[in-house]
Amino acid sequence: MRRSSRRCWIHDPTTMLRLCIGAAAAALGLRRCARPRASSVCEDRQVSATTDRPALPLLVLGAGTDLHTERGVECPGELPPASDPDLVARARAAKAALGDSVFVLGHHYQRDEVIEFADTTGDSFKLAKEAAARPDAAYIVFCGVHFMAESADILTSETQTVVLPDLAAGCSMADMAAIEQVEDCWDELVELGLAERVVPVTYMNSSAAIKAFTGRHGGTICTSSNAKTALTWALDQKSKVLFLPDQHLGRNTYVRDLGGALDGCVVWDPHRPMGGLTRAQLEAATMILWRGHCSVHGRFSVEAVEAARRDIPGVKVIVHPECRHEVVELADEVGSTEKIIATIAAAPPGTQWAVGTELNLVRRLAARFPEQGIAFLEKNVCYCSTMNRIDLPHLVWALESLAAGRVVNPIHVDPDVAHHARVALDQMLALPGETHKD
Ligand code: SF4
Repeated sequence: MRRSSRRCWIHDPTTMLRLCIGAAAAALGLRRCARPRASSVCEDRQVSATTDRPALPLLVLGAGTDLHTERGVECPGELPPASDPDLVARARAAKAALGDSVFVLGHHYQRDEVIEFADTTGDSFKLAKEAAARPDAAYIVFCGVHFMAESADILTSETQTVVLPDLAAGCSMADMAAIEQVEDCWDELVELGLAERVVPVTYMNSSAAIKAFTGRHGGTICTSSNAKTALTWALDQKSKVLFLPDQHLGRNTYVRDLGGALDGCVVWDPHRPMGGLTRAQLEAATMILWRGHCSVHGRFSVEAVEAARRDIPGVKVIVHPECRHEVVELADEVGSTEKIIATIAAAPPGTQWAVGTELNLVRRLAARFPEQGIAFLEKNVCYCSTMNRIDLPHLVWALESLAAGRVVNPIHVDPDVAHHARVALDQMLALPGETHKD
């Protein structure tokens, strides 16, 4: 019996448009306040320090006309206005009042105004491990996106509460694989007699429900750092991998790192019967890639790489493996956010870089390594709109609420889901060799 796929807000064009414009407006400090603030702009290839911002027409979020697709866009409390000149002082005071009872995590792609209050920064898995290593902190305020807060909840103790300052901070890639769709896919593979030959390998950037599916079917979680190890392990177990939810990371790892053939990969489209594939295609494939991608990294283009090589003499192009295969093939270096940071940190002064990852991180790299030339790879890519939902007003609201004894936006993963997700995460931790960084 086929399950009906749930409606996904991230795939609703109207909601996505409103979220993107809302997030862009929030990123520009215009949601509640038109006061211009210093920042870089995407139109400039070279990351710049300051600019005046034009006014944007604002759309009303959380109008309440479609509560399902507007999940989390309305803050269930009194959000401080972005124009409040005391926001920084309020965040400091609330954090000081909470003391060691709160630990603030900041993902590399967060805005500077939020990163300033992070007790530690990192990629998603590093942050989840950091949370687990702070058992004395009753509250983990996760400045990142929803799946990361779920992973932190799974890896922390029952006495700790993970808070996501804005529930609208989702991930378009994670939302491209709904659990009902993935269960449908597995049912199809069972009907075809193929499932017993398939191991699921799921990227960290996925919902807890997909991680639990992976645990129930003997698979493993992977990150962008250990995807090669995870795939090698999986292909030692069985002859095929179902790779969720990022087709690009799966393809790049199989072809680039394991030397597999491109035509050994097929893409399962959850919106088409039998994934849009034939039995013969599924029989022949080694990698069954879920049709998902990152809405930021998927936009870096071959043309941008060519333009960087043309415009910046001696440039080295470094990109994240969530980028499309043809872009990764042209790059000089490919790696996770942690690898990108480490590679640039280790480079000699005067090295010219064109960096293909999220803009907030690239801006901070440019500020941190002024002795190097650091450019953003693509003119037509902007911030991750959902990451940027977390802003200083939401952080202040979350911290002040905790200081007042109110827990807002807690993330609780269902215990059964958490158990099976933990099985898949533990399998990853048991993999040999490389680090487990995202
Ligand atoms: S950068 Fe991409 S993978 Fe990361 S949170 Fe944004 S949409 Fe998701």
